[in-house]
Amino acid sequence: MHEFNRRSLMTGLMSGALVLGLDPITKGWVTGANAAGPFDSVPALDGTLRTDAASLDAAADDFGHIVHHRPLAVLEPGSVQDVVKMVKFCRRHGIPVAGRGQGHSTNGQSQVAGGLVIELAPLSGIEISGRRASVGAGALWNTLLQATLPRGLTPPVLTDYIDLSVGGTLSAGGLGGQIGHHGAQVDNVLELEAVTGAGRLVTCSPTSRAPLFYALLSGRGQVGIITRATLRLVPAPETVRYYNLFFATLPELTAVQRALIGSGRFDYVEGQLQSQPDGTWKYMLEAVAYGATAADDARLTGDLGATSLTAADQAYYDFANRIGPIVDILKSLGEWTRPHPWLDSLLPASAVDELVAGALPTLTPATVGFSAVILLYPIDTAKLRAPLLRMPDERYAYLFSILRTASPGVADPAAMTAANLAFYETARARGGSWYPIGTLPLTPQDWKRHYGPVWPAFKLAKRTYDPDGILTPGQGIF
Ligand SMILES: Cc1cc2nc3c(=O)[nH]c(=O)nc-3n(C[C@H](O)[C@H](O)[C@H](O)COP(=O)(O)OP(=O)(O)OC[C@H]3O[C@@H](n4cnc5c(N)ncnc54)[C@H](O)[C@@H]3O)c2cc1C
Repeated sequence: MHEFNRRSLMTGLMSGALVLGLDPITKGWVTGANAAGPFDSVPALDGTLRTDAASLDAAADDFGHIVHHRPLAVLEPGSVQDVVKMVKFCRRHGIPVAGRGQGHSTNGQSQVAGGLVIELAPLSGIEISGRRASVGAGALWNTLLQATLPRGLTPPVLTDYIDLSVGGTLSAGGLGGQIGHHGAQVDNVLELEAVTGAGRLVTCSPTSRAPLFYALLSGRGQVGIITRATLRLVPAPETVRYYNLFFATLPELTAVQRALIGSGRFDYVEGQLQSQPDGTWKYMLEAVAYGATAADDARLTGDLGATSLTAADQAYYDFANRIGPIVDILKSLGEWTRPHPWLDSLLPASAVDELVAGALPTLTPATVGFSAVILLYPIDTAKLRAPLLRMPDERYAYLFSILRTASPGVADPAAMTAANLAFYETARARGGSWYPIGTLPLTPQDWKRHYGPVWPAFKLAKRTYDPDGILTPGQGIF
C-alpha cells in the first residue's frame, strides 16, 4: 500500500531512503516509491493519499455497479486544507478530481478515470447552534439527525434513505416527502464552504457570492467540492402517524396526492406503485402526520376515497430511518451489491397519468428485477428555489422512479439502461425532466437541453470557478 501523509514523509526524511527531493513546483516531496506517476510529488498532508489497489478499486465502483473508472489516487483528507492543497496540485498537473460522499450514485458520477477521488467522509464534524447546524460535507444525514434530535430539532427535509452524505445530496438536490412544505434539501441551506476547481477555499450564501452558492447546490460537483454546509433546522416531532392508503386507479392516486401536497393536512406525502402477482398494480399513497394519533384517522383520511388503508404510530427517528432495516435485508440477500440501473424521472402533472400508465406494462420482473421499487410522488415546484434543480415547467410535477435491480436471471444492466433512455425520451417529449442521480448516459447536447434557460449561467460558473475543467467528469455534463 502506498500512503502519503505527514508521518510517512517524516519517516522518509528520517531514513533518507524514500524521499528523493523537494519538487520545485509543488514544494512537496518527491518519493521514490512512486516517482513515475503524476502523484510522485505531493504536498505534505494532514490526511492520507492512497494508491493501493483496494482503495482504487473501491473508488472505481458505486451503488450502480455498472461503470468502473479507476482513479490514480484516493485522498482521505485530514483537514479542509488537504482538499485545498490537492485540488491546487491537481489543477497544476491537469489531473481530474471528483468528490465522493457515499458513492450511492449509479452511473459513475463520483468516479474519475486516471484522476483523484476525494473521500469526504473524514470531514464530518457537526456543530449545532440554535436552529442551525454547521455540518462537514461527509457527514451522513442519519448522523446529523441523531445529533439534532436530543435538542428537539430535525433537518426539515430528509431523503427516504438517510445514510447518504450531506455533500452528496446537496450536489444532487435532496428530494423527500416534506418537499411540499420546505422545498428540497438544497432549499434549506444557509451557507456553504467549498474548494473551487481553482483550489480556493470560499464561503458563500444567498447574499455572498450567490452565483457560486447556486452553482454548488444541485451543481453535481461541477464548480467546487463542498466541504461544509450550514443547514436550517426545524422542531422535530416525537412521533408520527404513518398511513398507507390504497386507491382504485392511478388517476385517483395522483389527484389525491396533488390535492394533499398543497393542503398542509399531512407533513409528508409520497407514494408507490406495487406490482401484484396477477399483473395488476396497487396505487399507494404514503402520508405522514407529525404528532397525530388514531383519534385523527377519520379527520385525516375519511374523505380521501381510499379503498383500504393501514396506519401505524412510529417514533420520528424510526420513521426517518425506515429504509435502514430494509437495506439490511437487501444486503443479506445480496441484492444491494447487484447492478442498479435506476431512473428518476420528473413528470409534469398534465402528463403524469398517461406517461406512467404507458410505462407500467413494461415494468416486469424481467425489466426491473425482483427487488425493484417504483416511486411516484408529487412536487410543488413553487416551493423550489435552487436554479439547477430542473423541474418540468408546471406548478405540480411528480417524481417517478424506477429503481431497477439487475437480479440474476433478469435483463442485463445494458438493456435496463436502454429502457431508461427510451422512457426518458418519451417523457421529455411531454415536458418531463429527470433527477440526475441515476443511470442515464446523456450527451453534452442532452445536458444543455436539460438545463435549458439556466445553461448559460451554469456554463459561466463552470468557466469561472473551475477554469481548467478538472472537477467531476463522471457527470458527463461539460
Ligand atoms: C437507497 C438510496 C435511496 C436514495 N433515496 C433518495 C431520496 O429519497 N432522495 C434523493 O434526493 N436522493 C436519494 N438517493 C440518491 C442520492 O441522493 C444520490 O445518489 C446522492 O448523490 C447520494 O449521495 P452520496 O453521498 O452517495 O453521493 P456520491 O454518489 O458519492 O456523489 C454524488 C455526486 O456528487 C458529487 N459529490 C459528492 N460529494 C460532494 C461534495 N461534498 N462536493 C461536491 N460534489 C460532491 C460526486 O462527485 C458525484 O458526482 C438515494 C440513493 C440510494 C442509493
